[in-house]
Amino acid sequence: MQTIYESFLASTEGAPQKTLFERPGAPDITYAQARDLVHRLATVLIGFGVQPGDRVAAQTEKSPEAICLYLATLQVGAVYLPLNTAYTDAEIDYFLADAAPRLFLCSPATLSEHRGCQSAVLRVESLGAKADGTLMDQVRMAHPMTNHVARKMEDAAAILYTSGTTGRSKGAVLTHGNLASNTAALSQIWRYTADDRLIHALPIFHTHGLFVAVNMTLAAGAAMIWLTRFDTEEVIGLMSRATVLMGVPTFYTRLLKSGRLDHAATSNMRLFVSGSAPLLPEDHRDFEAQTGHAILERYGMTETCMIASNPYDGSRKPGAVGMALPGVEIRITDRETAGPLPRGEIGAIEVRGPNVFAGYWNMPEKTAAEFRADGFFITGDLGQIGEDGYLRIVGRDKDLVISGGYNVYPREIEALIDEITGVAESAVIGLPHPDLGEGVTAIVVGETEGVIDEAGILRAIGDQLARYKQPKRVLFVPELPRNAMGKVQKAELRRRFAQLYQ
Ligand code: ATP
Ligand code: MG
Repeated sequence: MQTIYESFLASTEGAPQKTLFERPGAPDITYAQARDLVHRLATVLIGFGVQPGDRVAAQTEKSPEAICLYLATLQVGAVYLPLNTAYTDAEIDYFLADAAPRLFLCSPATLSEHRGCQSAVLRVESLGAKADGTLMDQVRMAHPMTNHVARKMEDAAAILYTSGTTGRSKGAVLTHGNLASNTAALSQIWRYTADDRLIHALPIFHTHGLFVAVNMTLAAGAAMIWLTRFDTEEVIGLMSRATVLMGVPTFYTRLLKSGRLDHAATSNMRLFVSGSAPLLPEDHRDFEAQTGHAILERYGMTETCMIASNPYDGSRKPGAVGMALPGVEIRITDRETAGPLPRGEIGAIEVRGPNVFAGYWNMPEKTAAEFRADGFFITGDLGQIGEDGYLRIVGRDKDLVISGGYNVYPREIEALIDEITGVAESAVIGLPHPDLGEGVTAIVVGETEGVIDEAGILRAIGDQLARYKQPKRVLFVPELPRNAMGKVQKAELRRRFAQLYQ
């Protein structure tokens, strides 16, 4: 197996003049041009004193240069650590203290503030969205370095912080083997080749945009239409020149709302992928009705890269995330006894395989607590494997509602509420309840205000749900709180409405 850096080199040698980055309104960047930039960046990193194993942290805007920095970091045997551009200075201070990088890249606008934390061990430079900043000033004068530091598959390649949906973000240490094996598995099952042209509109500080989208493209020698953000009209316009879109569910919700989707607009596309959060089954069905394409939903997390995917050829089922990737094992266990559960029963989703990370950075106890003795990682998600062999996620263990001693799985109730006319989306949470422990509570976003009310929702789901699962209250909000990856932040909702039953 090759590392991602080595497969990027192989793709470049195979077709140096091929476009890697296609940018609306800016010149294309070929594989050979990217390799030259990577090699000059590597020289600069060495000049900064970056050693194998050192962390290179980057809170930079999405740019081809940021991807080249990632590759140069791998070339010199260091560990890449991308940071969410939305993090505040206080959050950045936490990550810098936690990860102790050798080098931190920030935006040119914040360089003077961050230079304050420069020290004998930490160097601070800037990289901007337009190839500006102090890093690129150095790169222009640097000679390319062509050799690379050999790394083993078990060596760390990156530290990615989790999205922080359920609590403080944790640094997941991912090895070269994690990245290479996952890229190979995904490329095989999604038939990703050098002929593909991907619409890349995801952020690159997260596993989806960086390790799924970029690594697959580099390894296959494919091209990316590089967008700094998701714009519905622009993306639909580009579909006639592209083959694949990888998106979070909110991309699909917005595409459907545009009214411009049809068979003709999507006829050049061969694959639409969704992940990072649950895709609404209704969106899955509407998308297929409007375009003829069944969205392929897959499941993964920062700690494990991708775990499961709906099939390329077989049926892509709404509400399901499909089967384990080649080489990956999934099992469902009892969340209390940890014993294996038969098909159809809901329990903890556990994963084992070459995709599973080396551990949480600086958190040996947390790491030990999340692994079973036989090497399975406890994902923190709950799900079931049906008679059809498909995995279905019912929610996070931390979001499980226990009301009057009964387990209530939010996803089941959300799915019913989402089907009701007048409902755009919903989140079901448990709130402290004096009598029941937790009271099942539905937070609903209406399609247009006043079409549906609390009584209407309770009536619509009343005879479909056992009494203990029925929401005690239905609250309406203009929108659900989401983080940068479009994930609903239930912890925030629980905080906001904590007093409801008190
Ligand atoms: P934190 O671990 O810090 O609370 P997070 O779990 O949201 O944050 P990520 O690693 O970015 O951080 O997200 C992984 C999670 O996203 C999974 O554990 C799962 O809950 C959810 N997820 C990913 N893909 C899907 C999907 N297709 N359907 C439902 N949930 C999904
Ligand atoms: Mg998580």
